[in-house]
Amino acid sequence: MWEYAPAPESRDIANLKPNYRMFIDGQFVEGAGEPLKTVNPGTEEVLAEVSTAAPADVDKAVKAARRAYDRVWGRMPGSERAKYIFRIARLIQERGRELAVLESLDNGKPIKESRDVDVPTAAAHFFYHAGWADKLGYAGYGPDPKPLGVAGQVIPWNFPLMMAAWKIAPALACGNTVVLKPAETTPLTALVLAEIIQQADLPPGVVNILAGAGDVGAAVTSHPDVDKVAFTGSTEVGKIIQRQLAGTGRKLTLELGGKAANIVFDDAPLDQAVEGIVNGIFFNQGHVCCAGSRLLVQESVADELLEKLHARVSTLRVGDPLDKNTDVGAINSREQLTKIQQLVESGDAEGAERWTSACPLPDKGFYFAPTVFSNVSQAMRIAREEIFGPVLSVLTFRTPDEAVAKANNTPYGLSAGIWTEKGSRILWAAQKMRAGVVWANTFNRFDPTAPFGGYQESGFGREGGRTGLEAYLDV
Ligand code: NAP
Ligand code: MG
Repeated sequence: MWEYAPAPESRDIANLKPNYRMFIDGQFVEGAGEPLKTVNPGTEEVLAEVSTAAPADVDKAVKAARRAYDRVWGRMPGSERAKYIFRIARLIQERGRELAVLESLDNGKPIKESRDVDVPTAAAHFFYHAGWADKLGYAGYGPDPKPLGVAGQVIPWNFPLMMAAWKIAPALACGNTVVLKPAETTPLTALVLAEIIQQADLPPGVVNILAGAGDVGAAVTSHPDVDKVAFTGSTEVGKIIQRQLAGTGRKLTLELGGKAANIVFDDAPLDQAVEGIVNGIFFNQGHVCCAGSRLLVQESVADELLEKLHARVSTLRVGDPLDKNTDVGAINSREQLTKIQQLVESGDAEGAERWTSACPLPDKGFYFAPTVFSNVSQAMRIAREEIFGPVLSVLTFRTPDEAVAKANNTPYGLSAGIWTEKGSRILWAAQKMRAGVVWANTFNRFDPTAPFGGYQESGFGREGGRTGLEAYLDV
């Protein structure tokens, strides 16, 4: 038996400040809202105080965005806009370590993920969209597609910087200006992105970043002078926004929840599939809209796969998000931890068989041990509802048709996974799956060239790729 020595990244790299302010019209300003305290979920300590927006601040931000759109950004040639967006991408890379440590502090995700996934993917989205800015006439939306105007954008806490990049980069590339609100529990990296935007010398008002809770989000999405709303978050709030916008003629895209099926056929290489299953549900503590939270295994290999899976999951190290050896970090908030605990209790009560990793958990902070439920039936809450935590529900099937039927038996439809050696089976199953993204023999891969988005209650509209530009153009 040997142990890993602690390998913590220094928190000094985050350049944490005691106070953060909002970014409106090119300036960092105090909002008139009640300041919020953002917490490190790994230790429960307060990290910083953040000034928040009152309705008047939202109005100021929208006015600034409108002025910037009318006077500068909406008319600027794409080749000029591209230079600013490239600059943002490069500055994200330059400040990559700082952003990664800050993201892990504020969100609780392991440093190896913020360093290797969140920050590079955020930079990649700016690089990719900078490339489109002067080529929009070749994107298939007519010779000279026009921007929409002011975009109001609201994002969740699971990928704070990456979600900000997914929203801001295409909006800017297409010539829109932006008012963005990050989630209440994870505002810090978006506000450092605001510093980067200032460093990149973007004209004042092109990007405005507010802070606050759901009421600030609602003030952004319902503001009458916002031309386009982009929301990523829960299906519940997505429905509220859709009702607010109905009949206004304003454009809307919604990226909502998911309950993805990850299907393992009997011919799949099982050790490889186990790695994909682990990545599918334990990446980012399972706080992933497209997480492979429903594992569908062909009955003939179920016992063998489950045994391998338990052995592998037992080796996951849960703990300090800043430790470079940590595989599973902290649950983002006490509220989310309670939600996970309640759903796990429902799994017990409904008769599923629970297996929990015996890994030690830190005394302080919000942590949840990796958990696998087997003997799960489709009617159970843990098979139907998004748990948004490190909890996997395992179901079995006998035939490929049954696998597809079970995979599609959900109100969601964001993503799916297929594990098999047969190319023809991949194509067959992928075509039958009602999911926006279908991964084959891999899972949770993100790339700015690939459109991402949902079916049914997972929302509508796409982000990324050529298709994603449509959401920010008048087509
Ligand atoms: P949420 O409660 O819907 O919150 C998302 C954002 O909306 C937050 O900034 C929130 O502010 C704000 N908000 C709350 N009420 C609002 C309202 N009435 N009007 C406008 N904005 C409002 O979701 P969450 O629990 O933070 O995030 C988890 C959910 O996001 C999961 O369902 C997950 O699947 C989904 N998600 C989807 C995708 C995707 O691409 N499809 C990606 C990531 C996450 P507060 O911070 O104050 O709550
Ligand atoms: Mg926080």
